Amino acid sequence: MTAEAVKETRGFETEAKQLLHLMIHSLYSNKEIFLRELISNASDAADKLRFEALNNGDLYEDDPELKIRVEFDKEAKTVSIIDNGIGMSRDDVIAHLGTIAKSGTAQFLAELTGDQQKDSQLIGQFGVGFYSSFIVADKVEVLTRRAGLSAEEGVRWESQGEAEYSVEAYEKASRGTTVTLHLKSDQEEFADGWRLRSIIKKYSDHISIPVVMLKESYGEEEKDKAPEDEVVNTAKAMWTRTRTEVKDEEYKEFYKHISHDYSDPIKWSHNRVEGKLDYTSLLYIPSAAPFDLYNRDASRGLKLYVQRTFIMDDAEQFLPLYLRFVKGVLDSNDLSLNVSREILQKDPNVDSMKSALTKRVLDMLEKLAKNDADSYAKFWKEFGEVLKEGPAEDFANKEKIAGLFRFATTHDELAEQKHSLSDYVARKQEGQDKIYYVVAENHNTAKSSPHLEVFRKKNIEVLLLSDRVDEWLVGHLTEFDGLAFQDVGKGALDLGDLDSEEEKEAQEKVEKEFEGFVNRIKEVLGDRVDEVRVTHRLTDSPACLVVGKDDMGAQMRRLLEQAGQAVPDSKPSMEVNPTHPLVEKMDNEQDEDRFGDFASILFDQASLAEGGSINDPAAYVKRLNKLLLELSRT
Ligand code: ADP
Repeated sequence: MTAEAVKETRGFETEAKQLLHLMIHSLYSNKEIFLRELISNASDAADKLRFEALNNGDLYEDDPELKIRVEFDKEAKTVSIIDNGIGMSRDDVIAHLGTIAKSGTAQFLAELTGDQQKDSQLIGQFGVGFYSSFIVADKVEVLTRRAGLSAEEGVRWESQGEAEYSVEAYEKASRGTTVTLHLKSDQEEFADGWRLRSIIKKYSDHISIPVVMLKESYGEEEKDKAPEDEVVNTAKAMWTRTRTEVKDEEYKEFYKHISHDYSDPIKWSHNRVEGKLDYTSLLYIPSAAPFDLYNRDASRGLKLYVQRTFIMDDAEQFLPLYLRFVKGVLDSNDLSLNVSREILQKDPNVDSMKSALTKRVLDMLEKLAKNDADSYAKFWKEFGEVLKEGPAEDFANKEKIAGLFRFATTHDELAEQKHSLSDYVARKQEGQDKIYYVVAENHNTAKSSPHLEVFRKKNIEVLLLSDRVDEWLVGHLTEFDGLAFQDVGKGALDLGDLDSEEEKEAQEKVEKEFEGFVNRIKEVLGDRVDEVRVTHRLTDSPACLVVGKDDMGAQMRRLLEQAGQAVPDSKPSMEVNPTHPLVEKMDNEQDEDRFGDFASILFDQASLAEGGSINDPAAYVKRLNKLLLELSRT
């Protein structure tokens, strides 16, 4: 190395800068987590080294025992985290410590509110890792060398956590990374053996390699002895321990290590499977959706180990997409150590594991729903919409997934989605052979849909669907417990046995009676409608629009249009309520112009009432005003 190694000063990427600032302020109340984050990174670095060394044993150099050392210096007010893992090259350092390589970071930052409490929760979901050093340090120094590179290719990185950092060459004999925190003057408490030990025990006990500190001497007789290393954590891959051995707190901390989430998981399931396949899985349901749940490029999948050796993060082959919120570890004894993503895609054992793990997650959710309704409600709020992708993706588990769904219904004033399909079926009316639902853009529009009137009158429950995926969902679900789903706004109403013979006769009679009237309207509306008929579903409203039995509903139509897809044209049918005073008045209207205005207004209003838009709003307003004026003159 030349005496004057080039020192380069660089600015943090804008996003990193923003995040850094925010994090320092919002995580202040939980500042000790910096140690967990740094130990977690060191442990990942050890995992990566072990993985790369599978094909290149030389990477171990002469130091095969992977471990993490934590040191402190009371006088200098520093804490160091030292690992002999994979280390970083100069390019790695710039890429990983100067930028935030997570997809969707800009979007995440845009969602921040400025409200500290809310933001600190958000930032928890984002995961801040290395940058958490700056909560307690006003200067951070990183010395690192990538395994396999020469000592001269070591790097020194330093930053005060403001706008800039510097990188320069640094001769480093040992591979791996040393992170040294220069504590802020009010954070000196961390340069203390007892404090550090207790934080390690609390947050990092589950780390599978030893976290060592120098043994502290307490008595006179030990004073002159050479200092010894002491392992502070349990240092055993947590999932290899038996369930009864592991405390809930340990499960929670391990979750935070693998998920980079700061909040506790809602539930987990830890299982050893032996037999044809031999593997251990530890699966977690998070308590909050990550900021990038709907981002296609977001990382998902399990952390894959083969015989305790880390193989890859985000192994997405083991769970279906609709369970992408699940975090966890899979340790297989059947896969080969040099398995790759390509091999995973073709391996039939992977499919068997995938169906077993899928079932495991669904069972876990069923249990949660049964035993802890409050937690399940929280889960549903965060991940319900993702789970609704299930029936389309996973045909085999359709009914099981449907059993986990929760809906808002007409039998409940609250908008909350908390009624299961089994509840619905248990409450059905005598003779009812369908699960009725209405879809609208939001809950209120669904709730006040005119299509519900006859159902309300007959006390038949209707599911109120307003999530974006709902119409698509019922398109794939089609039935539950032998009952077909039926959109109350589609096709001519047929209540089957729910209507008595007398009712049916009466309906036919009215239909005949109003045949001429209905044709008169049809003439006015022309090709704006497919059909005009007398309704049997309205009690209070004068008219409503009905989509053809096989036509696309309005919600689906909007969804596709937003996605820029061509949607086939379809015309609604209009149904009119002959018992409504307005309709009665219309029937008696002799002036064909006036009748035409009435009919058009009725048509537009019906569209508005279900949250739709009208074709020519100005014409609508004009007609309505004309009628209002005439009214005020009489
Ligand atoms: P995350 O761990 O969520 O990826 P961090 O900000 O904690 O985010 O770290 C960013 C990256 O820096 C890591 O993904 C890793 O590539 C690198 N890194 C951090 N600490 C170490 C370390 N001790 N050894 C090797 N690489 C590290």
